[in-house]
Formats: sequence, structure tokens, C-alpha cells
Amino acid sequence: MTWQTVIGLEIHVQLSTKSKLFSGASTGFGAEPNTHVDLVDMGLPGVLPVPNKDAFLKAIRFGLATNAEINQVSSFDRKNYFYPDLPKGYQITQMAMPIVGKGSIKIFANGEEKIINITRAHLEEDAGKSVHDLFEGETGIDLNRAGTPLLEIVSEPEIANAKEAVAYFKAIRQIVTFLDICDGVMAEGSMRCDVNVSMKKVDDSELGTRAEIKNINSFKFIERAIAFEIDRQTKILESGGSVAQETRLYDSVKNETRSMRSKEEANDYRYFPEPDLLPVVISDKELEEIRSSLPELPEQKEKRYINEVKLEASEARIIASSKTMANMFEEACLKTDDSSLVARWLVGEVSALLNKDNIEIDESNLTSNNFAVLIGRISDKTISGKIAKSVLEEIWESGDGVDAIIKDKGLVQIQDESLLESIAKKIVEDNPGQVNAYKGGKDRLFGFFVGQVMKETQGKANPQSVNEILKKLLK
Ligand code: ADP
Ligand code: MG
Repeated sequence: MTWQTVIGLEIHVQLSTKSKLFSGASTGFGAEPNTHVDLVDMGLPGVLPVPNKDAFLKAIRFGLATNAEINQVSSFDRKNYFYPDLPKGYQITQMAMPIVGKGSIKIFANGEEKIINITRAHLEEDAGKSVHDLFEGETGIDLNRAGTPLLEIVSEPEIANAKEAVAYFKAIRQIVTFLDICDGVMAEGSMRCDVNVSMKKVDDSELGTRAEIKNINSFKFIERAIAFEIDRQTKILESGGSVAQETRLYDSVKNETRSMRSKEEANDYRYFPEPDLLPVVISDKELEEIRSSLPELPEQKEKRYINEVKLEASEARIIASSKTMANMFEEACLKTDDSSLVARWLVGEVSALLNKDNIEIDESNLTSNNFAVLIGRISDKTISGKIAKSVLEEIWESGDGVDAIIKDKGLVQIQDESLLESIAKKIVEDNPGQVNAYKGGKDRLFGFFVGQVMKETQGKANPQSVNEILKKLLK
């Protein structure tokens, strides 16, 4: 029997506002516990929430960038549940009228493009955090995160496998970082997702029962949790059982998902309209202002790189897919003429170093200035590609300037024509067979002579001079 996997993601994006969704407290990460908290976040009686305009602007930017309907009237609801890190006993969220309605996003997975529809994206406040490892036998509560604005982005159940799920998550991360509405730092919890997984027979028109795996915050764990669920659910279904509708957690140490609780239904939360907040109305003018302030997005960048900058499609996609990479590309191109060489080095050697260190380009020692100089030294043939690679590695370690490295390491090209000529002469003398073959019409052998001179000079000979000298000698 063939089973088909159906996946839907709920992604929580922490919006990078300065203050919280309903209070003036800071949203800064990593502060001492309970220092970014005010009366509203503590849920004291009698205090009233005041909506943060910036959170709305950021949510709308997301909506516009994903071709979504923007609900110009949206409202808040209370989602009631009891948990120690939720002081009010309810979360303020948008259930009935979310700010962002149906939209879509393009993903690239398994070598293909696919559109994933987005059901909605709504604003809500984050909860605090229970701290279990600070006090012996007791649990602490840190409310720094309570009230931080989240945009919850809900996908349609249209994702077919783990690769697509990761690609979808990456596409969302790309867009929110390009839009500057979230820092995208997953290790700090700026983006987390709930993964809903079910299985159905290929011909079934109805979806199967889903398990919801809560709060995953890395690409790797999304992939592993889905693989585990597919295996677990397939085994249950194959043996004639049925999958329980439940909420599960992913344990990255044991690489398994475990049941947390049976899935609650919406009515368990006793949603009702938030009486302390009026509906929020966005005017046409405000909407137009936000629309006109949108930056160029990855898809548009990719097209422009292909059509105007004339990059290879695969290079254009890689560079446009990361904001820091695209910035580096565009800044370096302003300072050097050879955009295709910039692109080739970014996608090749620079990406290899980024992957090795698992960092973003703006966390490295490479600046756009230094990178542009490096590209310049390659294209004016001061240094060969091979030497440029070792210069790049040196920049990676030390951050030193290209020209200083070339000088200090003695990588400066050999300019001395008479020295080059004597080396070339010797090579010509030592290889009479090749000389005859070349003169007999085997033009490609010219490269052999150039290569020999380069070898003799450890790549430091000026290739242009070498060419000229060899042409003269081999006439
Ligand atoms: P809830 O808030 O209770 O989790 P929703 O109905 O809003 O519920 O669905 C949340 C997510 O679950 C959505 O991303 C949706 O695509 C996904 N989903 C719904 N049904 C299924 C299913 N049968 N299999 C996989 N994913 C599903
Ligand atoms: Mg859910």
C-alpha cells in the first residue's frame, strides 16, 4: 500500500519591534530574567494593553510580500489556558479576524519550484518561559519574553515531504529577513514552528489524522521529526491501527517524537473577542505607504541578476536567497567591474568557507571592500585564482587587507620580463617535442607552456607577460 504524507506548518516569527506587542517593555534578547517586564506583561489587574503600531506595519509587510489579502479591519481574541508562564491566564491572539489573509510563497525543493499556499498570518503575544535548571527542586518563571510580538504564519496542508517543509521554512525565513521584520536567528528562538503531519492513501480525498509536533527551531530537526513521524504513522496504519490526534514533542537527543497531550480542540480554549482592545483599522493610504516602502525581494533580485546582471540562473538563485549574500554581491559589484567573477567567487570559494564555519557572511572577516579588491587582483591578473584562494583564506582568518597579504606573503607577481623570459626559454628548450607539435598546428599546447612557467614561478608570473613572451619564443 502506498501512503502519501501531508504536512502543514505553523511558523512563529518573532517580529523585531523595539517594544512588546501591548506594552512598552523592551524585546531585547538575553537580558537578566524579569528585567524586560512591565505591569501589562505581568498581567496585573486593572492594566490595559496598548497595541504596538510597528508590529502591524511589519505583519502587513509580510502580507504584501506574499501576495496576501490584508484585512484592513482586524481584531484580537483571548485564547484561555492556564500555564505558569502565562500570567493573565489567556493569550491575546487574532482568531476571527487576522491581519493577513490568504497568500502564497514559492519554494524550491527536490529540484522543482512549487507554490505553497498560506492560510493566514496573525499577530499574537508570546508567553514567558519556565526555567527548570536555575533553582534546585523549584521552577522559575522568566517573563522577559511574555508579550513579545509574534506573527504566526499558517500554511495549507500542501507540503508533501520533509525537503519541501524545510524549503518552505527557509523561504519564509528569507522573506522575513529581507523585509527586516525578524532577525531570523533560530538559535535565539526568533523563528520556531509546529509541524503537522498526517498520512493518507494516495487515492483518498480526505486527509488523515494529524499529529502536531510542537516548537521545532532548526532545519535539521524539522527534517528528522518528519522522518520519524512518517515512519511511526506508517507502521501504525500498516498494522491496521489509527493515528491519534495529538500534540507531540521532538526530542533531539533521542531523535524521536513523544506524545505530550491529546490535541485540544478550539473550543477547549474558550476563545472570545478581547474586550480591552478595539478592532484595528488600516486605511488605504497607510496600506499604500507600506507597499511603496517594500524592499526588493529574493524573487525579484533573482530575476534582475539573471536578466540585467547576466548571472547564471543557479548563481543568481543562491546569491538572491540570502540577504547578507545579496548585500555582499551588490556592494562588491559597485566597486569592481567583473560581476560574474564576483558571483562565481561568492557561490564557490566564499560559500565553501561559510558552510565550513556555519556562519553568515556578515559574521565573517570579509568586507565588501576587501572582496572587491580581491576580485580586482584576480581580473587584472595580479594573482592567479589559486593564489587568490589562499589570500581569501588568509582574510578569513585575519581580516587583513588583500594587498598587504599579497605583499607580506611574497605573492606579488613576477614583473621582471628578463627573468620570465629566461624561465620561458629554458622550458622551450627542455620540451622540443611539444614545441614541434605546437608549431605543427597543435594550438592547445600553448596552455602547456604557460602552465610550466606558472609552475616554475609558483603561480606568481604575470600571465599576460608570460603569454606575450611565449608567443614570441614559439613563433
Ligand atoms: P490548530 O491551530 O488547531 O493546530 P489549524 O486547523 O489551524 O489548527 O491547522 C494548523 C495546521 O495544521 C495548518 O498548517 C494546516 O495546514 C495543518 N493541517 C491541518 N490538517 C492537517 C492534516 N490532516 N495533515 C497535516 N496537516 C494538517
Ligand atoms: Mg496548531
